Amino acid sequence: MIDFSLTEADARLVALAKEEAAIAHRYARHYDLSETLIEPLELPEAKDRPDPLQVLGETVAQTSGAQIANVLLVLEFADPRMRRNQALGLGSKIVEADGSEEQKQRFRNKTLAIAITEPGAGSDPRSVRTSARLDPKTNEWVLNGEKIYCSYFEGADGVLVIARGSEEGEKFLAFVIEKGTPGLVDARQVRKMGIRAWDTKDFFLRDCRVPEANRIDVDFKRTMASFNGNRPRIAAMALAISWDLIEFTRAQLAGTGSDAAPLSAEIEYRLARLEALHEAARLTVLRSKWTEQRDGTASASTMVEAAMSKAIGGAAARQISQECMAMLGHLAVSEEFLAEKWFRDARIFDIFEGTGEINRLIVARAVLGYSARELG
Ligand SMILES: Cc1cc2nc3c(=O)[nH]c(=O)nc-3n(C[C@H](O)[C@H](O)[C@H](O)COP(=O)(O)OP(=O)(O)OC[C@H]3O[C@@H](n4cnc5c(N)ncnc54)[C@H](O)[C@@H]3O)c2cc1C
Repeated sequence: MIDFSLTEADARLVALAKEEAAIAHRYARHYDLSETLIEPLELPEAKDRPDPLQVLGETVAQTSGAQIANVLLVLEFADPRMRRNQALGLGSKIVEADGSEEQKQRFRNKTLAIAITEPGAGSDPRSVRTSARLDPKTNEWVLNGEKIYCSYFEGADGVLVIARGSEEGEKFLAFVIEKGTPGLVDARQVRKMGIRAWDTKDFFLRDCRVPEANRIDVDFKRTMASFNGNRPRIAAMALAISWDLIEFTRAQLAGTGSDAAPLSAEIEYRLARLEALHEAARLTVLRSKWTEQRDGTASASTMVEAAMSKAIGGAAARQISQECMAMLGHLAVSEEFLAEKWFRDARIFDIFEGTGEINRLIVARAVLGYSARELG
């Protein structure tokens, strides 16, 4: 039986996260305007405050569980976070899942980004063209290609690159490439419409030599399953932004002091519908994390729930942000407020970690019993 009431420990964590989010808000415009800067490891105010993730680690037994409590924290952060979460490096997760014991030891304390996407290979990773050829003389792999939109690249110690072997029909290969490896040529921070503080880089591989010891023996299907836990987190980020936008819209339209006036029935109705949409999406995120706790990250049930929460969360963020902007009128575009930034930020959550369309395909295949070949 699912119980959505928070434990006392959950509620304490949420309160901590709300306080941190309120402080981090002050930095939101700064990092929006300074596109080449990535968020610092922690904001100055963080050092005198308990770290919610650490508190979660210490009190996990009293919470609703590590996964649910973690996403409850994410649901509170709309803007730059007080602390950059190094654990988000998806490359590190894949090494933990598929690496040998020796590789796990060697890379355990490193943050590894993940690079699958290339020009022409986004939603369909089968189109990846980055090549890997084994040089039998040195037992090194020689990689060539271009990767784009790599999250956390600048702040990471290295990157897990997905490439194609040179043999006909060879499966995908994965390599850990550490920063400083000759031939790993990093380009620039990608200029983006929104989430400008989000570390996102393009890079090239030019005859980049990687030792065989850095090849991770991945299973592509299992590799993709390691994203299951991240999809609801991304949806939660989208919902954090949407909620701030709803609250801002309500406050602006109601006015303050002598300007305060009851909202019209039409505006109340429109806001109530958006709040209901937000709550429904939030519940799909919590349900997905509940399923993950029960069945594990790579299970088929978690895959479907995760894709559902991402599809619903991403679409809800788009709808909520668009309708709030329409209600706000000229206030929507004023840089005096964060609404226009939140509107720009919200769009990405329906794109990365699988676009809305791709996540709906995943759900449809599972529900209708089709293979990727039959419904793709
Ligand atoms: C800020 C940011 C950070 C990112 N971080 C990373 C990262 O760390 N690592 C990484 O590897 N990638 C990363 N990405 C890439 C991201 O995963 C891709 O942008 C995403 O998968 C979409 O791919 P695409 O941009 O090539 O769009 P396309 O795949 O070209 O899609 C274009 C449109 O077509 C639709 N579409 C595509 N195929 C289908 C289909 N079969 N059926 C129906 N509709 C379809 C899509 O839904 C979309 O609307 C990041 C992207 C951004 C913007």
